[in-house]
Amino acid sequence: MSTRRSVTHILSSEYLQMGPTRVKQPLPASGLNQVDPFLLLHHVGPIDVPAGQSPLDVGAHPHRGFEPVTFLFAGQLAHRDSQGHDEILHPGDVQWMTAGQGIVHSERTAPSFLETGGMFELIQLWVNLPKAHKLVPARYQNIRATTIPKVSMPDGTSTVHIIAGTYDDQTGPAETHSPITVWIADLPKATTCTFDLTAGYNATLYVLSGNGTLNDRYDLAPYQMAVFGESGTDFTLTTDARLKVLLLSGAPLREPVAQYGPFVMNTQQELHQAFRDYQSGEMGTLVE
Ligand code: MN
Repeated sequence: MSTRRSVTHILSSEYLQMGPTRVKQPLPASGLNQVDPFLLLHHVGPIDVPAGQSPLDVGAHPHRGFEPVTFLFAGQLAHRDSQGHDEILHPGDVQWMTAGQGIVHSERTAPSFLETGGMFELIQLWVNLPKAHKLVPARYQNIRATTIPKVSMPDGTSTVHIIAGTYDDQTGPAETHSPITVWIADLPKATTCTFDLTAGYNATLYVLSGNGTLNDRYDLAPYQMAVFGESGTDFTLTTDARLKVLLLSGAPLREPVAQYGPFVMNTQQELHQAFRDYQSGEMGTLVE
């Protein structure tokens, strides 16, 4: 029998100033360090950027012990890393990077975008790695928009993009180190959709744009995050205005988290080791 998943939090984003850009951060939140295995969500934009201005310009920096995942919705993003990847992301593309034992990368506005300006929007999500996989070799998955399966919902007008995991027999292209599903759902105005969730997975949804109601009870507005509890099998979204949400669910790792800056390990000692390894060049180098 289907029952609605319980909802434990409706979080509003905090705003952080990062260089030239104001970033929305629903997670972590005060009183909620993570939705295991999801550690952090940053949303940049949507912002209309004049030509010549850079909404994002992050120079070479390291990561270890987790997966920084970037969803580009508008604009163009240039990625370079210590493994030699040099890529431009376009709207709809997803960059799934496994930092593993270490990688150094830069994330900047693409030169082609600087010339024209325009709308810019992205999300960066930090997915934790299981203890057993924290030091795997770094990996870069550049997932182009055209390779992401799109599923039509039973209401006939809503769609779900499957980036990781499966939905309705479609499997997303991202390879992950623990069981995870990532979908982007796009619902038109005045519709209702029901989404099944995997039993035992933690789950959360983030509102990119639009308005609606969750489980006939909780109002949703842009930049809010709803966190689900454990009981129940599915959830419903009813829309007041076209609603676009990022849906995240995954098997919890239930392991200690030690985090400092760009590193996410299990112990303080491992964090110290990460700094030493970065400083001695063991995570690679990126000359810009
Ligand atoms: Mn980074």
